[in-house]
Amino acid sequence: MGYKYITAPTNCTGCALCANVCSRDAIRMEWSAEGFLIPKVNTESCINCGLCAKQCIALEEKPAYTDDIESVASWGGWNKNEATHLQSSSGGIFTALAERALMDGGCVFGVVWQDKYTAVFSKAETIEGLVRMRGSKYTPAIPGKVYQEVLAELKTGRQVLFSGTPCQVHALKKYLRKPFDNLLTIDIVCHGAPSHLLLEKYVQETEARTGKIIDHVSFRDKPEGWLRFHVTCHYTDGSTSSAPLDEDLYMRLFLCDKALNYACYNCPYAHIPRQGDITLGDYWGVQKIHPDWPIDKGISAILANTAKGHQYLQQVNDKVTLCLEPFDKIYSGQSVVYVRTEQQVPRARPMVLASLPFWPLEKVLHKLVNSVRIGPIYLKRNGFLHKLLRKCKQLISR
Ligand SMILES: Cc1cc2nc3c(=O)[nH]c(=O)nc-3n(C[C@H](O)[C@H](O)[C@H](O)COP(=O)(O)OP(=O)(O)OC[C@H]3O[C@@H](n4cnc5c(N)ncnc54)[C@H](O)[C@@H]3O)c2cc1C
Ligand code: SF4
Ligand code: SF4
Ligand code: SF4
Repeated sequence: MGYKYITAPTNCTGCALCANVCSRDAIRMEWSAEGFLIPKVNTESCINCGLCAKQCIALEEKPAYTDDIESVASWGGWNKNEATHLQSSSGGIFTALAERALMDGGCVFGVVWQDKYTAVFSKAETIEGLVRMRGSKYTPAIPGKVYQEVLAELKTGRQVLFSGTPCQVHALKKYLRKPFDNLLTIDIVCHGAPSHLLLEKYVQETEARTGKIIDHVSFRDKPEGWLRFHVTCHYTDGSTSSAPLDEDLYMRLFLCDKALNYACYNCPYAHIPRQGDITLGDYWGVQKIHPDWPIDKGISAILANTAKGHQYLQQVNDKVTLCLEPFDKIYSGQSVVYVRTEQQVPRARPMVLASLPFWPLEKVLHKLVNSVRIGPIYLKRNGFLHKLLRKCKQLISR
């Protein structure tokens, strides 16, 4: 049996649109050596119809970029239900919108844990089903055949809410081919998803250190408040362990942006024009502007990108507090939301990804993220010797 790829793995977002359009079911999404989802075509089942390549979002003309931030309505906001607010990553707006869809007899598609290593798309029909979707899973989520499932629900006339990363929302809309009045899409603010290898290694190391089995990891707990959120490991014996983002190895390696999918560094979907009817993210920096807001529990930065998005947000007014805020305030610290610039892929990225299966995470962080290698020597990044060397280089090049 032979296999071929649709596009170079370095272009692929892992959206799985190709696997959803193939009528021969010849495409399987698999983990690449670097830990990202890529499609593999089974050449025995494939009839060379070309549809997968025709639909592939990495092979299309990129969506036009605009910096028309005036056209977007924006709010800071949070859920009025204290428990939901605390259990959500930021302000809990996703749950308010999803509950509304369920109340209208609809269903919700979002991301849940399949097991301790794997996040997948799933459908919720009940309020209890939404609990599993709550919280950011900072790892690539497996779409499966979610676009086919969404279409099947839309055709019944039911209300459908779909929430995902901007590339996944874009893929869904392309799959559907036409707008549906009964579909609401939410895209989350996204600066990229880290390699699946990172979560595997993190789980293995934590289990070896504690002698316990992890059930799942929650990345956005708020025991010290939202600004210094914690990563919590939940063990099968019911116990937990937790560390703040600046001390947790997973978050430090994720947030250094050196273990992201190649396609994420120059993503055309994650800025204006946004892909979803509504965009949800964190309102970082709000504590300096509105210290009287419930900062400890988390504040969402919300965009209504379409009239439909605007209308849905008005409908959840009884469940959430929404405060109109200028766009440049709510996303002032996150230019990725609206600015499209050519981003350099960090030089250390290939080494970080190649070393993840073999080196302890502490060593990856110390040697490849916090250090610069010069021949056989590792210098502390931005330390005295590194700065001195840079100065010398500048003087020589003059
Ligand atoms: C990989 C990733 C990167 C992000 N990067 C940023 C960022 O740079 N800046 C920022 O402001 N916000 C970012 N976010 C969004 C932020 O973490 C919150 O998800 C968002 O503010 C919504 O919070 P909430 O309180 O309304 O709802 P929550 O209940 O916390 O929302 C969870 C929602 O996120 C979806 N979701 C969870 N994990 C995934 C996943 N792996 N793939 C797709 N969908 C997922 C769920 O389906 C659900 O709809 C990111 C989220 C993810 C998953
Ligand atoms: S060429 Fe056609 S049959 Fe072959 S994998 Fe692509 S969509 Fe499927
Ligand atoms: S459709 Fe998506 S998953 Fe398939 S090759 Fe293109 S970018 Fe990759
Ligand atoms: S940065 Fe772009 S390509 Fe990467 S996960 Fe986010 S939306 Fe998808």
